[in-house]
Amino acid sequence: MAEQKSGKEFSNDSLTRLNISIDAKSLMEKLSYRPEAIEIVEDKLRAFCPIHQDKNFRTFTVDLKNNHFKCHYTQCDGYKGGNLLYLYSIVQKVSLGEAAMYWSKTLNIPLEEVKKEGAALAEEEETSAAAPAAEKTVKENHFNKGVSFYTRNLLDEAVKEFEIAKTDDPDKELQIHNMLGLCFMKQGSYDKAIDEFKKGLQCKGYEEKEYNGLQYNLGRVYEASGKMKEALEIFQVLFKKDPKYQDVEQRVKKLEAAEGAPAPRKIKISYV
Ligand SMILES: [Zn+2]
Repeated sequence: MAEQKSGKEFSNDSLTRLNISIDAKSLMEKLSYRPEAIEIVEDKLRAFCPIHQDKNFRTFTVDLKNNHFKCHYTQCDGYKGGNLLYLYSIVQKVSLGEAAMYWSKTLNIPLEEVKKEGAALAEEEETSAAAPAAEKTVKENHFNKGVSFYTRNLLDEAVKEFEIAKTDDPDKELQIHNMLGLCFMKQGSYDKAIDEFKKGLQCKGYEEKEYNGLQYNLGRVYEASGKMKEALEIFQVLFKKDPKYQDVEQRVKKLEAAEGAPAPRKIKISYV
């Protein structure tokens, strides 16, 4: 472990792969953000800047398509922006190499080391055949691989990984249904997505925030598929539980307004 300090350099390819596999929201939560302090709309995450620590404005955004952040406050060190590994390294005050190693370990995504002269080749190949303890790692791999494919928009590949993870790793059942739902939603297979989110909601024994996330996604897919009444119902349930949850308040208002709209028009028509 001693050599693991900070002297390692990793290939850009593997850093890019790792960066894109990080779930931006989880990273923000790691930096002690409460989920309600994070807002995600479409492909943008918005929050108070963890670098210059603003309290009044959400100047800080992460583009979820490529996991790049930017702070819009010109005096901030984050103004130039960068990837999430860089963000993690400045906020946690660690080197970029340490940040990369932390996320590599957390997500179980290997990094390729750039060899410096004299570096020992031997330590690289640690895949000895007999390792019963590795089984858990393999299981987690399918889920993380799925997430990684999902973030790169390789949805068929992602679905395959999540299907394997489903039979392999029952502990993650709720999260797997959620991810499958997100994959199908992106593919436009709304009925399949609805089915997955509903299955996820039936899983027992998870934290409240996991169910909130599923309800939110279920509401979104109802909305996307034109089932506005169902969407409104589910957003209202979520809004009652947690009025500050993401943009649920705006969604309820918008849908309520739309709901009320058709009625007067009908009356008008009958007068013409
Ligand atoms: Zn900032």
